[in-house]
Amino acid sequence: NLDHLAAFRNHKTTTKDGRGVTLAANIGNASDLPSVLHNGAEAVGLMRTEFLYMNGDKLPTEDEQFDVYREVVKALAPKTVVIRTLDIGGDKPLPYLHQHPEANPFLGERAIRQSLAHQQIFRSQLRALLRASAYGHLRIMFPMIATLDEFRQAKAIYDDERSKLTTKQVPLGEIKVGMMVEVPAAAMLADRFAQEADFMSIGTNDLIGYTLAADRTNQDVAYLYQPYHPAVLRLINQVISAGHAAGIPVAMCGEMAGDPIAVPLLLGMGLDEFSMGAGTILKTRELIGQLTAADLGALAETALNSASTSQEVVTMVQAAVPGI
Ligand code: PEP
Ligand code: MG
Repeated sequence: NLDHLAAFRNHKTTTKDGRGVTLAANIGNASDLPSVLHNGAEAVGLMRTEFLYMNGDKLPTEDEQFDVYREVVKALAPKTVVIRTLDIGGDKPLPYLHQHPEANPFLGERAIRQSLAHQQIFRSQLRALLRASAYGHLRIMFPMIATLDEFRQAKAIYDDERSKLTTKQVPLGEIKVGMMVEVPAAAMLADRFAQEADFMSIGTNDLIGYTLAADRTNQDVAYLYQPYHPAVLRLINQVISAGHAAGIPVAMCGEMAGDPIAVPLLLGMGLDEFSMGAGTILKTRELIGQLTAADLGALAETALNSASTSQEVVTMVQAAVPGI
């Protein structure tokens, strides 16, 4: 019986010793809005936009997209909504684009690579997002960034569309532009990216797979898909530290952000925002309220410096947080 969780709906998220973090929701559609509000999300940390493109048999128009983005940011204002540009390819092909088959789609022309290669699709999405920004607190995030060149190119295209709309006197809001860190190369270079991005959001669903070189959709290697692997934890910690050193916030929007074993470690590393399926938010808020942030820095430190295996990490967390 989860009725007692309703009491957490309108609470801020703080640890027992008063450290505040943001609990946000991942959504994929305007139809997810009621569950965002019902579960007391403080923001939307990831709106995936693939559904807009995958539901039909042709590309959505700029106006069709604008309507959806506007509805979402308007309904949630003054909460912030991070909308991710198209993350197509990999396990999410777009049949009507007639992309040629790839031997390794997860290492192929997906996400930002596809957007930079097909700029008319990207520009139309950016214009729709820019126009919607006048109606609430919208942020834009690019997926699968691996190099600074990609981030700079995407940002330059965004700036170009922004100035064209400004010339036409289209009303625009202030928009922060950030990136997902889901490729190990970006995590390793997070200090450089943090100089240019307004925020970073760690996409562990992909980061874990790319770090362990294991496709999570392949059952035979599922045992290698290890969220608590010390190598993954070190990458995450590196991103958080680099973000904070540069004065920008760091979020996580992969499944791991709502995982009870991971939450104490992520708090210990100083993660600012946890974004997850709306159904997990209230449970996570309850858990965070039972944790003492002052103790978790040492836990994270030990896991990062002394653990050699995922199992050792789990054992350390369970010893530090009885009953988890
Ligand atoms: C991720 O990779 O963690 C992520 C949030 O993106 P997606 O699951 O859409 O690939
Ligand atoms: Mg991803």
